Amino acid sequence: MDTSLANAVKAAVSPQRLTDTALALVAIPSPTRSAGPVADELARILTADGFELERPVADWPEAPAVVTRLDSGSPGRILQFDGHLDTVHLPFIPARLEDGVLYGSGASDMKGGVAACVEALRALRETGALTNGQVLLTTHDHHEGPWGDRRQLKALIREGYVGDGVLLPEYLATPLPVAGRGQVIFEVRVRRVGEPVHEVLQPPGTPNVLMAGAELALRLRALHERLQRHTHAHAGADSCFVGRLSSGEIYNQVPVECMLNGTRRWVQAGTVEAVRAEFEQLLAELARDTGTQVELDFSISGDAFAISPADPLVAAFQTAHQAATGAPLPLGGKPFMDDGNTFVALAGIPALTHGPAATGAHTLDERVSLDELVRVAQVYALTALAYCAA
Ligand SMILES: [Zn+2]
Repeated sequence: MDTSLANAVKAAVSPQRLTDTALALVAIPSPTRSAGPVADELARILTADGFELERPVADWPEAPAVVTRLDSGSPGRILQFDGHLDTVHLPFIPARLEDGVLYGSGASDMKGGVAACVEALRALRETGALTNGQVLLTTHDHHEGPWGDRRQLKALIREGYVGDGVLLPEYLATPLPVAGRGQVIFEVRVRRVGEPVHEVLQPPGTPNVLMAGAELALRLRALHERLQRHTHAHAGADSCFVGRLSSGEIYNQVPVECMLNGTRRWVQAGTVEAVRAEFEQLLAELARDTGTQVELDFSISGDAFAISPADPLVAAFQTAHQAATGAPLPLGGKPFMDDGNTFVALAGIPALTHGPAATGAHTLDERVSLDELVRVAQVYALTALAYCAA
């Protein structure tokens, strides 16, 4: 990467302008499914800056998406920046700036990151550095579960608002996640026929659902141990985890139901049906062995994904990170699921999650340093230079 051009783009990132944008976005409450007012504010900011806007409804009329492009006018790749404007449903914390740190609802997750994307666009436009390809910015509602179902992002992808690769400024600054696990949340109900009955009055042969549930927990632990052999260099290993187990009303009553709740995660993309079949088989054996009925709710959060470390997006990102900070990032796995999983699965494009080293996501104490937001804006702008040139 041309050092003087990289330095010019870095210098064009304005901490003050970035701060103003981040403050303006965090100042407006936007719990999931109610991101309309903040989307309107972002649209106002971009329009005032002279960017041309699109407001696709994308399956959510409450808060049409905000889309803009920086087009070099010459052929090249399209790099997408994608962010969600909605926040989790917690009491609203107003925006506040103190000693170079931004506080408030969405500061970390992820209005600070969205503001960094906007500042990257401004820096690229001001310097005229983008001579090939295009940068596409998409922002939307409906991200945070369980309130949102990601319908707006899915609609945007369906309607063609996708680049050749996408960066997502969630609160993960290191490593660079080139793989992530898929996840299912399971809820199992182990039942027997009949009513609750006193311990000493139960008919002979009455199935004990509590013991069957305990047995299931042990079998899932054994499954987890077997699953540890399924590994991926960056994503980690398959797992099965039980976080809740409940049954019974009082100490000497034979209950009718036992509930187990947990997660099953996997590293190999495209194996969710095999994961389901294996789980159902285990439950069928439990029902047979214990004389109970077993019911399964198997809620798929998303599939595993992996991006080739040789992908041009990874190479462009690392070149940019080196230019912005002096070193590339170590490659690793993504600990959470985000919209990147959806881009890989539905749009078939590489997705890299990289954002500020921010803290307090999904709490009342979100905080992100302005230095981090400046760094992210620089890395995003420089990644566009490296990626779109080809
Ligand atoms: Zn987020």
